[in-house]
Amino acid sequence: MSPTPVFPTSTVLGYPRIGPRRELKRALESYWAGRSSRAELDRVGAELRERTWRRLAELGLEGLPSNTFSLYDHVLDTAVLLGAVPKRYRDAADPYFAMARGTDELAPLRMTKWFDTNYHYLVPEIGPETVFELNAAKPLGEVRQARALGCETRPVVLGPVTFLLLAGALERLDDVLGPYEELLSALAAEGVAWVQLDEPALVCDRTPEELAAVRRAYERLGAAAARPALFVASYFGDLGEALPVLAGTPVEAIGLDLVRGGVPDADLTGKTVVAGVVSGRDVWRTAPERALAALSAVRASRVTVSTSCSLLHVPYTLAAEPDLDPALKERLAFAEEKVAEVVALARADRPAAAPVPETSLPPAGPVAHEERSPYQVRAAAQAARLGLPPLPVTTIGSFPQTGELRAARAAVAAGTLPQADYERRVEAEIERVIRLQERLGLDVLVHGEPERNDMVQYFAEHLDGFAVTRNGWVQSYGSRCTRPPILHGDVSRPAPITVRWATYAQSLTRKPVKGMLTGPVTITAWSFVRDDLPLCDVVFQVADAIREEVRDLESAGVRIIQVDEPALRELLPLRRAAQGDYLEWAVAAYRRATSGAGEGTQIHTHLCYSDADQILTAIDALDADVTTIESARSGGRILGSVSGFGRGLGPGVYDIHSPRVPSVAEVESLLRRAAEVLPVGRIWVNPDCGLKTRTYEEVEASLANVVTAARRLRAEL
Ligand code: GLN
Ligand code: ZN
Repeated sequence: MSPTPVFPTSTVLGYPRIGPRRELKRALESYWAGRSSRAELDRVGAELRERTWRRLAELGLEGLPSNTFSLYDHVLDTAVLLGAVPKRYRDAADPYFAMARGTDELAPLRMTKWFDTNYHYLVPEIGPETVFELNAAKPLGEVRQARALGCETRPVVLGPVTFLLLAGALERLDDVLGPYEELLSALAAEGVAWVQLDEPALVCDRTPEELAAVRRAYERLGAAAARPALFVASYFGDLGEALPVLAGTPVEAIGLDLVRGGVPDADLTGKTVVAGVVSGRDVWRTAPERALAALSAVRASRVTVSTSCSLLHVPYTLAAEPDLDPALKERLAFAEEKVAEVVALARADRPAAAPVPETSLPPAGPVAHEERSPYQVRAAAQAARLGLPPLPVTTIGSFPQTGELRAARAAVAAGTLPQADYERRVEAEIERVIRLQERLGLDVLVHGEPERNDMVQYFAEHLDGFAVTRNGWVQSYGSRCTRPPILHGDVSRPAPITVRWATYAQSLTRKPVKGMLTGPVTITAWSFVRDDLPLCDVVFQVADAIREEVRDLESAGVRIIQVDEPALRELLPLRRAAQGDYLEWAVAAYRRATSGAGEGTQIHTHLCYSDADQILTAIDALDADVTTIESARSGGRILGSVSGFGRGLGPGVYDIHSPRVPSVAEVESLLRRAAEVLPVGRIWVNPDCGLKTRTYEEVEASLANVVTAARRLRAEL
């Protein structure tokens, strides 16, 4: 190739794509519902891309990325780019969305979390039969669209090593490199100067064979005759031993996450370093001294300023947040504000320092918790107090959220519905849920969580130390977004949060009703948290607030309290060396939240995701009396590893992600399989997860079959 083009002085690794007002969500959902055409969806996509490039250029950013837009997921886009579309989807009306969401006949591709974020990607399915074949329409189309607007861009593509590692198919490396070479040559022919290949998998522990694959991949791509200059981006941590490997290949630029990782000792003379000094994972303003110090400590031929990762993980702009406290707002930066920081750092006009928050309380610190009585003692006390049948049937907490309730919440916020009227509607919904469960014959009831917009935001709204946003949406998967609260100060609980609803629900029935709380790790994981305290101290503060709620529920006569921790797995550090420490404090925080409960109070916990088997020891260490866990969705795979589990366990008996009603026989067979590996006296019967996204019709039919299956097995005891 010709002499290396100069890398722009400022860039970002990627940008949000759902639209500042979630335009893509609306367009997708309308297309899926058959209310609009594919052409209309593509038009919205093109508009969003145009807006993004124009805005980034206006803000003064030099290096504009392209191909960071996606109609659903960039990993799925990469599979399509490389021709890795499994045969069974090819005849679907729309193969892309068939892979993403399934059809009546086809299950979708498996979905899982993107590294340690709450973004989910579709796992590419690659077998020996997969034939890789380049289909470069999307990246080329985006380059051309931007060029027509007067913008030269750098296409962003997932790199071959990460792509194959995510698919568990690194052995196909040599086969996939061909299409990558063709892509490079097509981009070069298009006049593209730089291409960005993302390799976040290189910040995880890698074996010598995997590192050798990195070397092979980038030596081969580097040797391509006609190609743009190569920029290999890493993020979410330190490259560690992968850095010298990459540095030894002909790639022209390497991206380093200097927020999570330190400035490497390595001498990178000869390379450009794209220095990620503005965090793409939090919402805080960048401390300019720290960023400038990192920039000047890097030893390379050229250092340019960037974000630590794609800005996909933060909301669009603070300009859409009129209700945030101005003092807090001063400390914040969302995507647009972060771009402005990158630009200012690149121009070396130091961006103004963020004001230092007033911290009050000393950090809670990893405080000890008292031990609950041994499980056997608790189990006996609870059995006497609860009088449950064997194989008790329960649910995970939420019941379908009706459109009326969501509209009522919006009306309260808009000031058009009095709070008291809203609360009466919530009570009416609770009563309906209780009556339904009684009629169906469930054993442990729930109130259905109708008062919650979201299992984290609801608590954030009722705790001091958190702020919630009006438009701070972040893509979770496909058209789904969450609005993570901002945990900015010391956490405390000014008043009981759930006691009112739990006691109302219990007043309607003689059956036990579970009090329902979100655990400290999950509340923290699904919020943007302050970075001036170690994460574990923040989690302990939240744990103390939940602990007070547990005490109050117990004093109000609630006999079973569930503290959910679906995000326990997500925060697991990417490097093994740090995992033990994390699991230790995460478990300690959970126990601190729950250990104030007396022996007669039954503590439940709930976890999602079938890859929980990796952390089963930690789940056991939570010491909950009953653990409910996703199982049916993955065909009961988890049953293979739970035989050592010492307390109550409810492996889900049906997948709540699908509208399908499970048959009695299906549920019965999953229960029989559970009974082969666990003592029957410790098995609970429940769906995989909450029922919030289902309809009442589906829920009623499904739970009726679950109760019938449990009764059949009980009759044999
Ligand atoms: N209790 C919550 C619910 O049922 C749990 C949700 C979750 O696990 N993500 O909705
Ligand atoms: Zn769940």
